[in-house]
Amino acid sequence: MKNKNYLTLILIVAFFSCRSKVTHRDEGNVMSLLYQQNAAECKALCLQGYNLARQKLYEHVLEVQKVPNHKRIAIVTDLDETALNNSYSNALAYLHDTVVGLTSLQQWWLKGQATAVPGSVCFFKFADSLNVEIYYISNRGDAGNYVAATMENMRNLGFPQATDTSHFLFSNKNRNKEMRRNQVSVTDTILLLLGDNLSDFNVCFDNRTVKDRNVAVMDLESEFGNRYIIFPNAVYGGWEDALYKDIKNPSLSQRDSIRRLLLDTIPFVKPEQCLKKVSNH
Ligand SMILES: [Mg+2]
Repeated sequence: MKNKNYLTLILIVAFFSCRSKVTHRDEGNVMSLLYQQNAAECKALCLQGYNLARQKLYEHVLEVQKVPNHKRIAIVTDLDETALNNSYSNALAYLHDTVVGLTSLQQWWLKGQATAVPGSVCFFKFADSLNVEIYYISNRGDAGNYVAATMENMRNLGFPQATDTSHFLFSNKNRNKEMRRNQVSVTDTILLLLGDNLSDFNVCFDNRTVKDRNVAVMDLESEFGNRYIIFPNAVYGGWEDALYKDIKNPSLSQRDSIRRLLLDTIPFVKPEQCLKKVSNH
């Protein structure tokens, strides 16, 4: 019986070994996707972010109300992986041995099957109850059908203020969000920004190197957890683009090589040296 079980195990391993030779998908995505979809820690981080956002928004609203003749008050939020969970499309691409491209992204937007990030709907309803304007600034395409499908998806999930297209500022090829934030600032005071990507908060993070992004985060230290509320996204984002520097659309093998080069290690210690140290004690 034992031999039979062992044989089955070998066959399973052999089967998946053959499958693992396929190289059209980004193998590096699988752990990130598992974290995003399964880790209770990821869910807890989202809840933590929205709980903090609720507290900070309330404080900022009380503060701005002291200012005579203040402008309308608003918050600005990113959509994907901040309010909407799209990990299904990345998971599907992985299982179908491919990567997510513009066409598959557009098809996904039209399907309207994203789910809500934990804590998001509840928070935005709270903001709405305080008469705060909510601006959904996203780099989804701004063609009418993408906006309409996204709005319907969000209405179905219970997001407030999802009936007014003027609250949906999508990308017209320009992925820089600063212009759209400035557009909101003309009529509204932005109290809070929410995002999974540093570019959702400040233009100083756009197209910067890994080192510069890290320096800029420290420079803006006091903003995080105050006006900036950030959510976890280990699957994609500006952090990954920065790894490849100036290589546009890097191939899978280029990505793999660069990732290996960028891993930090401690000086290598041979296993037998570790064993010697242990036996000496
Ligand atoms: Mg996002």
